[in-house]
Amino acid sequence: MRKRASKPRIQHPVPQRSFRAGPCTHQLVEIPPHPHPKGLNPLHSLFSGPHGKEHWSVRYPDCGGQAQSPIDIHTKSVQHDPTLPPIEPQGYRNPGDGAFTLRNNGHTVEMSLPRSMFLRGLPQTYVAVQLHFHWGSRGHASGSEHQVNGKAFPAELHIVHYNADSYANVSEAKQQADGLAVLGIFLEVGDVANPAYDNILNHLKSIQYAGQKVSIPPFDVHGLLPGQLGHYFRYNGSLTTPPCFESVLWTVFHQRAQISASQLERLQGGLYSNAENSLPVPLVDNYRAPQPLNQRKVFSSFPVGESIRPKRPGGGGDCRAQRGENGSPPP
Ligand SMILES: [Zn+2]
Repeated sequence: MRKRASKPRIQHPVPQRSFRAGPCTHQLVEIPPHPHPKGLNPLHSLFSGPHGKEHWSVRYPDCGGQAQSPIDIHTKSVQHDPTLPPIEPQGYRNPGDGAFTLRNNGHTVEMSLPRSMFLRGLPQTYVAVQLHFHWGSRGHASGSEHQVNGKAFPAELHIVHYNADSYANVSEAKQQADGLAVLGIFLEVGDVANPAYDNILNHLKSIQYAGQKVSIPPFDVHGLLPGQLGHYFRYNGSLTTPPCFESVLWTVFHQRAQISASQLERLQGGLYSNAENSLPVPLVDNYRAPQPLNQRKVFSSFPVGESIRPKRPGGGGDCRAQRGENGSPPP
């Protein structure tokens, strides 16, 4: 029987607390963020067919809950909260010497992250666990999970963190209302390749089939983020795949990261959802549709009416970035 937190959900930030390094800071923490439902053959798609999205709540009741993710963010209904501080990723630029593990879990490509990476600017200290992607299929504009005013983007990056102030590990935290914090970054197609994303995309050919993994050199993870970390949407939601626990404090950045068309195609066409030695099934359209907002409120850290344009490589856009670490924004 898993415990569910009874404490009220957090809507506003409280004074920041400093990161306390625990005894296990050298360890990589890995979980399958999108575990196969028990008894479900990995050959069966999580996103379509008899075990697809519409059927998740049969086995996982939380998937039919009232605070599910993703959502369509209606900017006219968003409430500006000027007290929301910029997100300050710590340790993202120099994540240490240990190799990252990149894995095809049949539902997404996932990369483990070291505990030395964590977030400031949230109500508690959230330590990085892993990142992964959601995307569509070639020739289609959709692929992101969150939407803004009904508009989807070609892909979305999720960087998953857990509340290390309150919980011992991510397995414990993911069942608690204040357990997880996920950064959501929309990916859109720009004119030039984004070299930060090549650190991942260049290795997809080594993990084409579900269950495969590869060690890759550590790199500047901050380069995957958009330049403007001070402008974001904030709401309480859930994991977007079973078991759909409503344990996620979501931060969805307003500014998009840009990748090239060919980089997007490598994400859309590089992986299979089945194990090797069987008929290849392309791993595509691994995103969930927006869920009802119900009684929830979406906050913005910025006045949405004074909206910004995405920053383009080489300048332009809104560059009033309040950055958590030194350095130039990604291309
Ligand atoms: Zn995700």
